[in-house]
Amino acid sequence: MEKSPVIVVVGHIDHGKSTLLDYIRKTNTVENEAGGITQQISAYEINHQQKKITFIDTPGHDAFSAMREQGARAADLAILVVSAEEGVKPQTLEAKATIEKNQLPYIVAINKIDQPTANLEATKKSLAENGIYLEGLGGEVPFTAISAKTGQGISELLDLILLAAEMAALKKEKTNETDAADWLAEGFILEAQTSPQRGVTAAAIVRRGVLRRGDYLGAENSDCFRIKKLEDWHGRETEILTASSPAVIFGWKTAPAPGARWYSAAAKDQLMKKIKSSDVSGPAADKLPSAATANENEKIMPLIIKANTLGSLRAVEKEIGKISVPNLKIQILDSGIGALTENDFKLARATGALVIGFQIKIEKAAEDLALKNQTTYGLFEIIYKLNEWLETELERRRPRIEVEIIIGSAKIIKLFSQTKNKQVVGGLVLDGKISNRRAVRVRRRGADLGAGEILELQQQQTAVKEVEKGKQFGALVEMRHTLAPGDILEILEIERK
Ligand code: GDP
Repeated sequence: MEKSPVIVVVGHIDHGKSTLLDYIRKTNTVENEAGGITQQISAYEINHQQKKITFIDTPGHDAFSAMREQGARAADLAILVVSAEEGVKPQTLEAKATIEKNQLPYIVAINKIDQPTANLEATKKSLAENGIYLEGLGGEVPFTAISAKTGQGISELLDLILLAAEMAALKKEKTNETDAADWLAEGFILEAQTSPQRGVTAAAIVRRGVLRRGDYLGAENSDCFRIKKLEDWHGRETEILTASSPAVIFGWKTAPAPGARWYSAAAKDQLMKKIKSSDVSGPAADKLPSAATANENEKIMPLIIKANTLGSLRAVEKEIGKISVPNLKIQILDSGIGALTENDFKLARATGALVIGFQIKIEKAAEDLALKNQTTYGLFEIIYKLNEWLETELERRRPRIEVEIIIGSAKIIKLFSQTKNKQVVGGLVLDGKISNRRAVRVRRRGADLGAGEILELQQQQTAVKEVEKGKQFGALVEMRHTLAPGDILEILEIERK
C-alpha cells in the first residue's frame, strides 16, 4: 500500500506558516459537518488528486522550536515558507538546519506574492546566498510561489508535495527499506493532554503499520498499556488508523513526551520483543532538571509550572531556561499539565515558589489559597508575556551583593581631638576625592585597621561636601580605632549589584 506523505511546515515567524496551514485545511477538508466537528489536534489530513496528505500543524512561535524539531522528525517532507517581502531570516536558517539534521526532503514556498512589495527575484537571490539552491537555479530544491492569503499557487504546491513524496518513496525502494509487518505499528507523539473526562491522551502520527484499538502500545520513557480508545483528527472514534494518519490515543498511564517514539502490537510479548530490540527504553529518563545548587552569593528561586499540554510545557521550560538573572538560580520544582490547583499553592507556600500557568486556568480554591498566602502567580496565554513577567519578578527577588568601590584616598596629618569614637583629624587628599557622609576604611602600613564613617567635612573652616586630590581638609570621623598621622583613609562607595 502506498503511504501518504506527512508534511511539516517550517520557516520564520510571520512568513505565513499558520495562514498556509489554515488555507489548506479550509479549502481541502469538510469541517464543521455533522455535529460541528473541527480539528482537535495539531495535525490534519486532506485529499488532493484522490491522494491523502497529512499536515502537522504546530504553533509557529519561536518558543515552539522544540516541537517543530519533533515535527520534522515525524514528517516525510518539509515545506519551508519564505516571505517574498523579507527573504531569508534567522528562523529560515534554523528551520533549514532542522530539516538537514533530520535528512528531510523539502520544498520552498515563496509566500505573500500578492503583496505589492513582494520581490520574487530578490527572495530567490537571498535563498541562494544562504545556501538554499532552488531547482533550475543551480540546485535541486523544488519551489513554488504562493499566496497563503489568496490561495494563488497552493494547488501547485500540493502537486509538488505529491511529486516529491513519490520521488522519496522511489528512493526508499532503492535502498530496500521495507515497511513494518502490519501487526506492528509505530509513530511519534505530537503532544499529550490530561483531562478528568478523558484521562491521559496523546495526539500522535502513525508512521508505519496499522494502529488498532485494543493493541498494546509502548513509548519512549513511558509504560506499556492497552489502547482503550482511538480517535481521528476530527475527534471521531475509530477502530483502526493506518500509516500517516493523525490519531488520538487513549489509555496512557503517564503522559508521553512530545516527539517520543512509540510502537504497538496485537500481543504484548510481540511488543516487548520489539521494544527490547529497539532503543525505546523503560522508565522516564527525561525528567525535569534535578535540584539546582547555588553558590554562597546565589539564591535559588523555585518555580511551579503548569501548562495545557506537554508540548507547551516543554516550550515554556525551554524559554525559561534562557532567562539569566545575576545571583539567582531558577529551579523548576514541579511542573505538570492541567489547571492550577490548591496543591500547587500548598507546595508554593512551603517552598516560596512562584507559580506559573500557561494557557490554563486557576481553580477557585487555588485562587483563594494564593490570595490568603500572598503567593505570587501568573497566568499567560502568550509565551513572551510569561517571560517578561518572570524576568521582572526574578529581578525583584534576586539578592543584591554589596560591592565596595574606592573613590579616593587621603593621608591623616594630625589628630586634633577624640571623644569616644569620634575623632577630629586633619589630612591631605592623595587620590580621587574625599566626600562627606561616606564609609571609610583605614590602613596603617598596609594593614586594614577597620571601617568608619566621615560625619563632617571642612575645607578652610567651611563645611563642604567633598575635597579634591591635592587639597587639605578637616574631618570628623567616627571609628573605633584611634587614628594617627600617616594612616590612610580609603573613601568607599557601596554599590549594590
Ligand atoms: P507564521 O508566524 O509564519 O505562522 O505567520 P502567519 O501565518 O501568522 O502570518 C503572519 C502575517 O502575514 C499574518 O498577518 C497573515 O495574515 C499574513 N500573511 C500570511 N500569508 C500571507 C500572504 O500570502 N499574503 C499576505 N498579504 N499576507 C499574508
